[in-house]
Amino acid sequence: PLVSGMEIDEKPSITYDEIGGLKDQVLETVETVELPLKNPKIFEEVGITPPKGVLFYGPPGTGKTLLAKAVAHETNATFIKIVASEFVKKYIGEGSRLVRGVFELAKEKAPAIIFIDEIDAIAAKRLQGSTSGDREVQRTLMQLLAEMDGFESRGNVGIIAATNRPDILDPALVRPGRFDRIIEVPVPDEDGKLEILKIHTKNMSLDVDVDLKYIAQNAKSASGADLKSICTEAGMFAIREEHHSVSAKNFEDALEKVMHKNKDKSSKES
Ligand code: ATP
Repeated sequence: PLVSGMEIDEKPSITYDEIGGLKDQVLETVETVELPLKNPKIFEEVGITPPKGVLFYGPPGTGKTLLAKAVAHETNATFIKIVASEFVKKYIGEGSRLVRGVFELAKEKAPAIIFIDEIDAIAAKRLQGSTSGDREVQRTLMQLLAEMDGFESRGNVGIIAATNRPDILDPALVRPGRFDRIIEVPVPDEDGKLEILKIHTKNMSLDVDVDLKYIAQNAKSASGADLKSICTEAGMFAIREEHHSVSAKNFEDALEKVMHKNKDKSSKES
């Protein structure tokens, strides 16, 4: 179905190797999402219920979607992504019907991973004095919780949600049997940055003077998405100079450009 705010990838190609600096997060995701899908028997034998839903939280562009896609790749599952904020904006009055539809689709396409991005848009704490819009959002959340409650956690559908704002989530969402595993996906540290730069320059022609470690050290608050932009921009600078490989200077200019843009953004936000 062609629904805006929804993406279906029958065979995502992302592997864990393409994710830099998130070793612990990959491990935890393997245990909590991949293993129950691949080997539900183990959980039965040990006599524990695997988590039903996993919540990723952290700043934008840190690899939450990548992680979810990699799990889908690893389990040969269909990747179904919905962006909760888009659903709320575009399908007024239809949110709960769409949620039901997504779960039906996942069962049909199973094994499947449902990835709900920006879940805070439908799962923020209830505020005082609700408008009809709030009530509609509330109904969408109720439907999501109902779908999760009616779900077999040893089944062949995994559910992952992501947010930048874990602090505003309705506690009902993270109750046991719902999104009861919470994994932080932070901005990378210096080693993580270097790993990510290596991943994104793997297919680039680099001059010998390019020092990725220097870039990693100097891209202070960069997310994975920023580091990817730095690589692309550096390549663009090289092309503009009609060079066939990328120089250290190109990287420095790209670093300046991308990190400067971020600074403008954050000063506008505050
Ligand atoms: P958002 O909260 O904005 O949806 P996100 O955390 O889901 O962000 P992704 O969509 O996974 O971020 O990342 C965007 C792009 O940035 C990825 O497609 C990838 O190219 C790059 N990227 C981000 N994090 C990493 C990482 N840890 N390793 C390698 N590449 C990364």
